[in-house]
Amino acid sequence: MSQPQRIHHFINGEFTASPDARYFDKRSPVDGSVIAHIAEGGKADIDDAVKAARSALKGEWGKLSTDQRVDLLYGVANEITRRFDDFVAAEMADTGQPSHVQKHVFIPRGAANFKVFADVIKNVAAESFRMATPDGKGALNYAIRNPKGVIGVISPWNAPFLLMTWKVGPALACGNTVVVKPSEETPLTATLLGEVMNTVGIPKGVYNVVNGFGPESAGAYLTQHPGVDAITFTGETRTGTAIMKAAAEGMRDVSFELGGKNAGIVFADCNFDAAVDGIFRSAFLNTGQVCLGTERVYVERPIFERFVRALKAKVEAVRYGRPENSANNYGPLISQEHRDKVLSYYKKAVAEGATLVTGGGVPDMPAELAGGSWVQPTIWTGLPETAAVVREEIFGPCCHIRPFDSEDEVIELANDNEYGLATTIWTENLSRAHRVAERVEVGVTWVNSWFLRDLRTPFGGSKQSGIGREGGVHSLEFYTETRNVCIKL
Ligand code: NAD
Repeated sequence: MSQPQRIHHFINGEFTASPDARYFDKRSPVDGSVIAHIAEGGKADIDDAVKAARSALKGEWGKLSTDQRVDLLYGVANEITRRFDDFVAAEMADTGQPSHVQKHVFIPRGAANFKVFADVIKNVAAESFRMATPDGKGALNYAIRNPKGVIGVISPWNAPFLLMTWKVGPALACGNTVVVKPSEETPLTATLLGEVMNTVGIPKGVYNVVNGFGPESAGAYLTQHPGVDAITFTGETRTGTAIMKAAAEGMRDVSFELGGKNAGIVFADCNFDAAVDGIFRSAFLNTGQVCLGTERVYVERPIFERFVRALKAKVEAVRYGRPENSANNYGPLISQEHRDKVLSYYKKAVAEGATLVTGGGVPDMPAELAGGSWVQPTIWTGLPETAAVVREEIFGPCCHIRPFDSEDEVIELANDNEYGLATTIWTENLSRAHRVAERVEVGVTWVNSWFLRDLRTPFGGSKQSGIGREGGVHSLEFYTETRNVCIKL
């Protein structure tokens, strides 16, 4: 993307500017240059998008059979795959993350999100109960699932295409229509998906995108709009609280995937190299901007020093640079604003008495990348559990490592946090893996792995990390209205 292009909303199958023609700049995280001018949506755009989505429910889309919808969604997945390079380029421009992450994780997952939910909706069985009646003839109950209506989709910037389609895929599979408000930091792939929808023949108004900001902007207007039947949101817990208040008006349903402060638990009986690799990925992939990422690492004392040394060596070998160059495996943070936040935690850690194992600042970058939002991957030890960097979600490439002495102790440490999203456990002892997995208070537990996702499984957070579960049939609970029909025989 050499010249900044104008990125518009996608409403009722058309790319449109806002009536007041306002735009904001999208800057490259890699070098700070302006890469696009984004239409800034307001109330009028949200009104238009919701109106289009409502009328699509009553039009051709609402009349399709499940099989016809499934065929269309397979078409969307195939078209994403056909335009794979365009999606990779757009996501790379938006996030600055290395090409291999887009090619092997984020963009394939976008296509899979449509295929998997097309399969789920096609294969899910209806619940039914025969019951006895006093006349001896009985009755038959069966459940049917209807679409909920217009779904407001609000998504973050850290894995924009994966997380947005994780909501749009099941919403459309269930027969709903959507209005998407992508993150202001990463609007490109949501826009590109509009082109895909038109190519495949998804009826107008089924998939709409309004760009803009959150508070007092497109995001807030979408959550307040009475024509929206339910809101699905991934982002910060604080934003979720604001959205929940807006959704209370009109009793709209919400599905929330929120923040995390996830623990990695490494027992002395682990496969050492696999554990070091696993924690390296879980703490530093995507420059630490992963909700499931590990910012608290607990390592059993006998291997603590060795583990810290091995992780330090891996971290110090990351290769910074432009994402297009496949030799680079480490990208910048999303924005200067986010870098300021991460660096403020780097400062706090030192002020609170951390031992800095590696990193802690801004790397020396060549002049052409100096305007990017680069930070060093960072490891600390020696902090108490009360320290801000041990308690609060930083969402950056950093972790604190602490030794522990017993299973009970580490479970208590892992659970002593307001979040409850994910944990990764490293041990070769199967019984221990089961015991610990049962007691950690999180929605998602990985043993000897991380971010290994079967999209049919329940996904979501406990405590302040979310409300509801998505994935497989669990997504149907949110995206459909289940009704019971009782027939007296
Ligand atoms: P954010 O909450 O700042 O923004 C997310 C989206 O909400 C953006 O589109 C933003 O414009 C919009 N928004 C902000 N305020 C709003 C308001 N008042 N009303 C309506 N919309 C509003 O989050 P972020 O910084 O983009 O993303 C990072 C956060 O997302 C982290 O906390 C991370 O843990 C979380 N996250 C969670 C998961 C999960 O699955 N649990 C996945 C990815 C990211």
